[in-house]
Amino acid sequence: EAAVIWFRRDLRLGDLPTLTEAAVRAERSLALFVLDDALLGPAGAPRTTFLFRCLRELDAALDGRLLVVRGDPVDVLPRVAAAVGASSVHVSADFAPYGTRRDTAVEQALGEVELVRTGSPYAVAPGRVTKDDGDPYRVFTPFRRAWAEHGWRAPADTGAGTVRWIDPGEKDGGPRRVRIPEDVALGEVELPAAGEAAASARWAEFLQSDVTAYDDERNRPDHDATSRMSPYLKYGCVHPRTMLADLKGRTGSGATTFTTELAWRDFYADVLHRRPDTAREHYDRRFDKIRYDDGAAARQAFDAWATGRTGFPIVDAGMRQLLAQGWVHNRVRMIVASFLTKDLHLSWTWGARHFMRHLVDGDLSSNQHGWQWTAGSGTDASPYFRVFNPTTQGEKFDPQGDYVRRWVPELRGVAGKAVHTLPGGVPPGYVEPLVDHKHERLVALDRYAALKDG
Ligand code: FAD
Repeated sequence: EAAVIWFRRDLRLGDLPTLTEAAVRAERSLALFVLDDALLGPAGAPRTTFLFRCLRELDAALDGRLLVVRGDPVDVLPRVAAAVGASSVHVSADFAPYGTRRDTAVEQALGEVELVRTGSPYAVAPGRVTKDDGDPYRVFTPFRRAWAEHGWRAPADTGAGTVRWIDPGEKDGGPRRVRIPEDVALGEVELPAAGEAAASARWAEFLQSDVTAYDDERNRPDHDATSRMSPYLKYGCVHPRTMLADLKGRTGSGATTFTTELAWRDFYADVLHRRPDTAREHYDRRFDKIRYDDGAAARQAFDAWATGRTGFPIVDAGMRQLLAQGWVHNRVRMIVASFLTKDLHLSWTWGARHFMRHLVDGDLSSNQHGWQWTAGSGTDASPYFRVFNPTTQGEKFDPQGDYVRRWVPELRGVAGKAVHTLPGGVPPGYVEPLVDHKHERLVALDRYAALKDG
């Protein structure tokens, strides 16, 4: 008996229940990854390259026995299963809109060969946490409580030795094996080290140094005190339950707050699973009537935002960090998102698309709902009258101005927190503020008030 283990967002061998499940059913398993253009399309070079590097690490951990094929999974999976005589295909369940549709189609195409879903990329799989009456939670705080009560499995004891691997060279026909593609041209982007071992190393480093201070420090982009685990979680180089198990014996607000952040990830996955329309549409449908700007001037404002040339230092620093690292600090993601929607009056969907292209951790549920939350149209909507002031946000969370100076070289000559207000005028090479925040705030409030009135 043979099985296929189809890797998708679980590019690791440790703590991977699909491996044990496959080993129970079959003597030998084939490791497969499918390069699917439908998924590769929206990702830019940083995320695609990070993925390819993760695949290379996985292949190395499998002694070169990862079969990589290019094509539509609906076509590929039955042919691979036939080529190795597999009677089951094993996956971690996918709950995002495309993945759900794809898996249903693959399941049909496989016919007699069973598609076995074991586990998911989440501590608690979407759909599991419900109110007593079976309804989903629409607000985070009660979700988080019920999520913790629901609990999660202990990490699975797996590894390369859990299954006997089939060498792809032994397969009889089937789709052609391709090499893992080379890096996509990255320009100057610095990426984190890829793969499972790098994820464990980063996590161990974070646990040693930062977790106690995380609660106080996580809002400080200048201190860079967050875990930077998001790219690894995106591709499943680590499972969140492994992280939660490591946090368990730790007391203190840092560990609790970090657990809450992982709950946000599960919450947004749950919300998107139940409302797949919210990948594109407003979660709060009252916002369908909101007036966002469009046209040539709006496009120009968008370009200034996207390239970090708005004249608002913290916004520009964030947008340039995005281009340089494919990652932005969470506080700054909120600031730049608020600026796009409430100062420039542009649709959150424009910003979300730009983020999905450039973020290494770009994840549909966290991204679309992070944007909708900031825009006010999402879950737990921040009150519509809360409009971030980019200057005071900068002064508060980057109090010495180090974050801005790091990412905006034109401002390196401005000392201390004056970098947020530029009292000595705009230095040569930098730009005048694109808008007057005080005025745009009122415009935003007007547009929001019109919505609420009906
Ligand atoms: P840490 O502070 O160390 O947090 C640990 C982990 O908890 C993160 O890796 C992440 O998996 C999870 N987490 C933390 N905050 C959030 C949150 N607000 N929502 C969901 N999960 C969270 N996160 C993504 O992973 N992908 C995205 O595409 C994404 N887009 C975002 C867009 C906007 C507009 C906003 C406001 C937030 C977005 N986030 C996204 C959430 C958050 O900014 C990142 O998860 C976080 O900055 C990643 O850095 P870290 O791993 O150092 O975080």
